[in-house]
Amino acid sequence: MFNALLLDKQDDRTVASIQAIDESRLVDGDVLVRIDYSTLNYKDALAITGKAPVVRSFPMVPGIDFAGIVEESTHAGYRPGDAVVLNGWGAGETHWGGLAQKARVAGDHLIPLPTGITTRQAMAVGTAGYTAMLCVQALERHGVAASDGDVLVTGANGGVGSFAVAILAKRGYRVVASTGRPEEAARLRELGAAEVIDRAALSAPGKPLQKERFAAAVDCVGSHTLANVCASLRYGGAVAACGLAQGMDLPATVAPFILRGVALLGVDSVYVPRARRVAAWASIAEDVSVDTIESVASVVSLSDAVEAAAALLRGEVAGRVIVDVNR
Ligand code: NDP
Repeated sequence: MFNALLLDKQDDRTVASIQAIDESRLVDGDVLVRIDYSTLNYKDALAITGKAPVVRSFPMVPGIDFAGIVEESTHAGYRPGDAVVLNGWGAGETHWGGLAQKARVAGDHLIPLPTGITTRQAMAVGTAGYTAMLCVQALERHGVAASDGDVLVTGANGGVGSFAVAILAKRGYRVVASTGRPEEAARLRELGAAEVIDRAALSAPGKPLQKERFAAAVDCVGSHTLANVCASLRYGGAVAACGLAQGMDLPATVAPFILRGVALLGVDSVYVPRARRVAAWASIAEDVSVDTIESVASVVSLSDAVEAAAALLRGEVAGRVIVDVNR
């Protein structure tokens, strides 16, 4: 038996409870992992509270991320005792995810934990930090360099945003952090932001072309914010768009694309090919200091994860929430 946070549907409502589950209910997968830690991403919060249809079938163990130790494996790449991490691949959406003491998954979806990172630190990073790295790598593949000028991060106090600020600053970029929580400005400066701006300046409908201010951007917010980001990128600039915290819409014009050669780079973290996953985690291990990782994270128990998910959706959480599934 193992403990898990289980989501079920009752009268069209999502109900979450901690349950003791028999291991025989774990199906589909050639690797059994004993989970040390999981985490709460925005998507997990939506799943746990039932605020969006993230979960595809019930009952479901949520949790799009986990890190732990291989207990059993018939996969050629993994042996008992290996430390592994998983991000996405439908965990917590189409099959049981990380908010549990055990998970059985396809070994092809795991990657070995990079040297120098503990399972706890891996979950402080989680899909949020991993997505931030994918965004930075997308910008750099496009040719963006630190010498090009200011890089904007929107939703800077969130999980993805916090890591994007830290990663960009470590790589020598001058980072402008946009936030709706000015009271967290000192934290953003500690992470490496050179300037902190009020997100209100970006969140209302704006002109199709605005002052050419930023060389590049990481956008966690979507909607009018992303439209304004595109409109204020310099000639040839690029934005890595990964989020929809303000909305899924994109009320923009093509002007920035056809008149300034601006590039809109979409970033998905769920089905990224393995080589890019491994490269992203290798860069996280290299570029993100343990101090930074520790400073952005707080830890909750499995039973506290439900309340923490609601707080995350209320915008009350700064940084990352690690879930100790054995507590
Ligand atoms: P968080 O909830 O931790 O952070 C979101 C941040 O967005 C908030 O902290 C806030 O930042 C800002 N925000 C919230 N509401 C609004 C609003 N109405 N208008 C403007 N800004 C707002 O989430 P994550 O960092 O985990 O994820 C960020 C986004 O990226 C989410 O939309 C998530 O779904 C998406 N995502 C996508 C992935 C992918 O694969 N493409 C992977 C991971 C996340 P502040 O307080 O600084 O204003």
